[in-house]
Amino acid sequence: MKMLLAYLSLYIPQSLLTSKYMAERIQLLAADPDTCEHEWDVVACILSTVELQVQCRKCATYSEVLNPSKEEWAASYDAMENPYPWEDLSRIRLYQVDDVVH
Ligand SMILES: [Zn+2]
Repeated sequence: MKMLLAYLSLYIPQSLLTSKYMAERIQLLAADPDTCEHEWDVVACILSTVELQVQCRKCATYSEVLNPSKEEWAASYDAMENPYPWEDLSRIRLYQVDDVVH
């Protein structure tokens, strides 16, 4: 039932929903990371290690892209405010499941 409500709420303007419910809905609707066919968005650049952080828009799993090119690095400077799709799956290194999020 909760699941059904969560799907129905997708048709309601977000301004009518509480942020608490929005957060809960993300949990309810998130795909299982183990079976998810990830679709990645660049969400941040990690200055300390010069990596791009990517997040799956379906299951919310985080991963990272190592050794970005100068152009890729430059493009990521405002990824936190404006996430954008990352297509090159071969370069994504999945975080270990038992790893702490860096
Ligand atoms: Zn995913």
